[in-house]
Amino acid sequence: MITTLDTYRRKRRLVEALSTAAIVVMPFLNIFRLDVPTLRFYFLNKVLWVDEFYLLFLAMMLLLWVIVMFSMLYGRIWCGWMCPQTVVSELVRWWEAKTRKLFRVPRSGGALWRRGLSAGAVAAGTAAVSLLIGFNLVAFFVDPVSIIRDIASGSLSAVTGGIIAGIAALVLADGLFWREKFCAKACPYGMMQMLVTDGRTQIVRYETERAQECIECKACLRVCPMGIDIRESPYQSECIQCGECVDACTQILARMDKPTLIRFSWGTQGKTGSGVAGRLGFVDAKRWIMFALTVAYSVLLVLLIGIRQPLALSVSGDRSTLFRKGEDGRIYNDYTLNVSNRSMSDGEFSLVCVQSSSSPQCTLHIARNPVPLKSREVRSMRFSISTGGENLRPGPNRLILKAMNVADTSVSANTEAVFFMPESAGAL
Ligand code: SF4
Ligand code: SF4
Repeated sequence: MITTLDTYRRKRRLVEALSTAAIVVMPFLNIFRLDVPTLRFYFLNKVLWVDEFYLLFLAMMLLLWVIVMFSMLYGRIWCGWMCPQTVVSELVRWWEAKTRKLFRVPRSGGALWRRGLSAGAVAAGTAAVSLLIGFNLVAFFVDPVSIIRDIASGSLSAVTGGIIAGIAALVLADGLFWREKFCAKACPYGMMQMLVTDGRTQIVRYETERAQECIECKACLRVCPMGIDIRESPYQSECIQCGECVDACTQILARMDKPTLIRFSWGTQGKTGSGVAGRLGFVDAKRWIMFALTVAYSVLLVLLIGIRQPLALSVSGDRSTLFRKGEDGRIYNDYTLNVSNRSMSDGEFSLVCVQSSSSPQCTLHIARNPVPLKSREVRSMRFSISTGGENLRPGPNRLILKAMNVADTSVSANTEAVFFMPESAGAL
């Protein structure tokens, strides 16, 4: 006896709910987000900066690699089980059925006003969902909390608001008019995945060797959201592996005590793999090698992100004056300092100048020291270094500027500052 608990539809609804929840919370938790206003990339709640582009590149390559491996293993299952496009299509279809019931609209015909009310409710519901999707998509590029704050205070910028509205309009058109037509005709992922699949990729397969058992009920055809007949071929690019035809055939043939004629299968082997790994699609060495490479790549990326400096420091000298002599008789050089707190917590950072380990006689002059920096804050400020000239030669000398988190001395950074000494300090 088949129960709803056994159906692929039920499992798919659960996966759709979980993947939708993941996509919604991802920008809020900075798991994967490119913040365009500040040109920073958030990955696993760590912030990467433009000068750490190699990490961003490696993260993108990992994402691409995972997509390729996933497609090779499971074919187009993303489309049927996780893609927001499919979720929107099914949500609108469900809402359509609800409004038809609510306004008592028959399958064909019916009073015009009832049909109008039903269509209006469908459009309003789809528009509301579309706006939420527009917000969620923009949240991957602009801080979602600041968007909400701006909406609440009525100060949302015209650009951000316009982009959200534009995306919402496209999603609305998609939900009302295109739906699975987009998946079949225009989706680039759908076209791409055909390139990476092989003879052992998961497919939905009609068991042609048992074709004489088919009772031609066409239930598999009626339930297919893509409008295809899976009996014609398991390699139809439109198939999004939703499993609806599997459920339909299973339920029809169960009445005759027969097993389904349509199943998920690893290629045309005609059976699923054995054991946990086999059932997950690891049915040959090629898949295990790709999996091992993915794990190694992921570990390397996490290590690289883990060892990166949480504090960055750079100094540029004021070359319009090179040097000046103070009233105290010391030589001064002026600089601009750029310091950025790349960690996820606020802190105070003390700055010191070091001339050499044996004679640290240089002195740093800055409006405020230690410098308070919020998490991910960058600050640019003017400062000067003065020395009495001891152990320095005329012309450029290399001094070290050190910054250190007052509360955690393991967080520190050094940079060089070129200090110009005159030929003769006394001649100035
Ligand atoms: S053929 Fe079956 S699995 Fe493929 S899209 Fe149609 S119903 Fe879904
Ligand atoms: S649902 Fe099964 S029995 Fe009915 S037409 Fe499809 S394959 Fe044949």
